This record gives sequence, C-alpha cells and structure tokens, in this order.
Amino acid sequence: MKVHEYQAKEILAQHGVAVQRGIVADTVEEAVQAAETMAADGVTQFVVKAQIHAGGRGKGGGVKFTPSIDGVRPNAEEILGMTLVTPQTGPEGQLVQKVLVTAAEDIAHEYYVGVTLDRAKGMDVIMASTEGGVEIEEVAAATPEKIVKVHVDPSIGLRPYQVNEIASALGFEGQALKEAKKFIAALYRAYRQSDATTAEINPLVRTEDGRVVALDAKIELDENALFRHPDLAEMRDVAEEEPLEVEASKHNLNYIKLDGNVGCMVNGAGLAMGTMDLIKLAGGEPANFLDVGGTASPQTVEAGFRIIQSDPNVKAILVNIFGGIVRCDRVAKGVVEAASNMDLTVPLIVRLQGTNAEEGMQILKESGLPIESAIRLQEAADKVTAALNA
Ligand code: GDP
Ligand code: MN
Repeated sequence: MKVHEYQAKEILAQHGVAVQRGIVADTVEEAVQAAETMAADGVTQFVVKAQIHAGGRGKGGGVKFTPSIDGVRPNAEEILGMTLVTPQTGPEGQLVQKVLVTAAEDIAHEYYVGVTLDRAKGMDVIMASTEGGVEIEEVAAATPEKIVKVHVDPSIGLRPYQVNEIASALGFEGQALKEAKKFIAALYRAYRQSDATTAEINPLVRTEDGRVVALDAKIELDENALFRHPDLAEMRDVAEEEPLEVEASKHNLNYIKLDGNVGCMVNGAGLAMGTMDLIKLAGGEPANFLDVGGTASPQTVEAGFRIIQSDPNVKAILVNIFGGIVRCDRVAKGVVEAASNMDLTVPLIVRLQGTNAEEGMQILKESGLPIESAIRLQEAADKVTAALNA
C-alpha cells in the first residue's frame, strides 16, 4: 500500500528520522494557515507540494518554492485541483486533492537513501548515493559506481559498522556525519517496524546550516502486515487507487487492471497466470488479473463480472475455473445467475474442469444464455480467438 509523502514523513518522524517541517492542507485557506503557523516560529520560505501517490512531482509542476509567505496562496491555488502529470502517473495524470506546505530548507547537497527488500538475496538492502534529487534508476544506468549498497540480514539487524560504511561513502563529516548515522539507523528502524516494503528518501539533504533532513519521503507498506498496524492501515487513500481495484477489494477479489481486451476470471493465482498466457496464445491480451479465490460463490462471481465488464476495453470474457474445493456446478450457477442479472455485452467463454464439471456444463447449456463452454484449454483458447475475430 502506498501512502502520501506527508504520511511517510509522519511514520519516519515517529521513529526518530529527521524530516523537514510541514503541515498538510486540503484547501487553499488551510495551506495559508499552515504557512502562518510556521511563520510564527520564524519560518520565512515555503514549498507547496502536491500530495499524490506518484513521484516526479517537481518535474510536473507539483512542487513550488516561494521565498516569502505571500507566494503560498497563489502556489496552493495553482496546485490544488490540478491534474498533475509526472513520469510516474501516466499521461492521464492524477487529481491533486491535498498539498503539503513545508518550511523550505537551504540545500547544501542532495543525497539519496533507500531501503527495500532484495528478494534474490533474502535480505534488506540499503542503497545510498551522493546523486540525490534525480531518479535512482538514472543514476544506476549512468553512474552505477555512485551507488553504495549494503545488505542487512533482517534477523540480525543493521550493524553500526554498516551505518558507518554508508554515511562515510556519502562523504559526511563532523556533526553532519553524526546526524547522517542517526538518520540511516532510524530510517532502517522505521522501515522494519512499520513492515514497509520500501522506504525511500530522495532527496535527503545536508542543509547550509549543517543539518541532515529528509526533504521527500516515499513509503510502501506490506498490505499483508497491515493487520498489525491499524494506525497505518488508516492511511489508505482510496482516491489515489484504481476505482475498479477498490471495488474488487470490497469483495475480497484479487483484481489488477491491465490494458488488454480479454477479461478473465479464474480461481487461484497460478491458474490465473496460466490463463493470461492462454489468452495471449489465442491472440488476445489480458484485460485484468482476477483471482476469485478458493471459494467462488455466486456473489463473488457476479461482482467479478461487473468489475470486468465496467472496463470498456473488454471484448470477451474467459472464465477458467478448476473445481477442487469449489464445485463447478456451484460456479456454473453463479455464472448463470450473474449473467442473467446483468447486460452481458461481450461473448462469454466458460471453462470448467474438476469436481462436478459435467454438471456445471449442463447448467450452462440449459440456461439458454449465450455462453460458450469449454473443457479443454485449447478449446477455450480457440473460442477466445473466435470471439475476438467475430
Ligand atoms: P518529487 O519531484 O516528487 O520527487 O518531489 P521532491 O519532494 O523530491 O521535490 C522535488 C525537488 O524540489 C527536490 O529534489 C528539491 O530539489 C526541490 N525542493 C523540494 N523542497 C525543497 C526545499 O525545501 N528547498 C529547496 N531549496 N528545494 C526544495
Ligand atoms: Mn523526490
């Protein structure tokens, strides 16, 4: 689960990571008030920052600096409500509904520090670079020698010599070195204790007056661990998520929207992957990944259909169910019930295999609905091809 920059900074601050001061705002008035609150403590320069679940905001005009408080209002007016397009949002962009007003820092140098999971090594990896403020992928491509990587065994934790190695590689000295070490240790602690899959600070800055603070923060949380963190679960912002995926999650469906033309509904993630291959083999492109889970009930099948059908790119739907725990006749009833409850505008191909497959096929046939049924995989692929070419 992604969270906003302001939320990531809250999580980090709770674990002792030094972050730039800031206040989140939903309206222009709140943004101005936020700046006034900080001005009362002597802050004179501000940055207004769009809060969306994507990076690269600066490039898209979603991060605006002002040397005086007078600039906060026009900057907030410009950013709130804009459709921000960044290299990470896709061309359709993302509507900005919140801004973070920050106390601007005078930057001496921008660094990069990130923690994530190295699945191949089965360890956490901390990556750091003196080249902050630019995409780490660009640094990795152009000057990979400028990235230092330190692997951390999660069962042992981050060792002081590893913290030293990273902070020294970044060239910190004196008081800033002390702060950088504290920063790195706290960042790793925040990553571990919040069950994050990624915690990335880009840029981490050394300020003109020698402090080391996070100017930007990106945290992604492990959804499977959110039950341990009710406070973090509350940070979910569904306005930032794909509406169809939000709807699917309400029905406990594992749905991921893709760009193709064949919708698919399958039980089990492995079979869903296999079915997507099958669709490609048949000359189509999967419109989604959808795992209805081990217990496909008529209700979940219907919800799945509605979600698939609301994607206008879908030209055919392939249902591929293996009846193990779930019985095919029950699935067939669900399919018939769902299909007769709604306007099915695209060809529907149903492959049932396993427990009570024959009974299931019979139910589909007797329904009188225009449902193509298949038992063998090749048969299903041929019927998808035929539907796409019709
Ligand atoms: P991103 O574009 O979404 O990654 O947003 P960032 O929060 O990283 O901001 C983009 C860039 O704006 C940073 O790399 C900085 O160069 C600049 N910026 C952001 N906040 C400040 C600030 O407080 N002071 C200064 N001088 N520059 C800032
Ligand atoms: Mn950034």
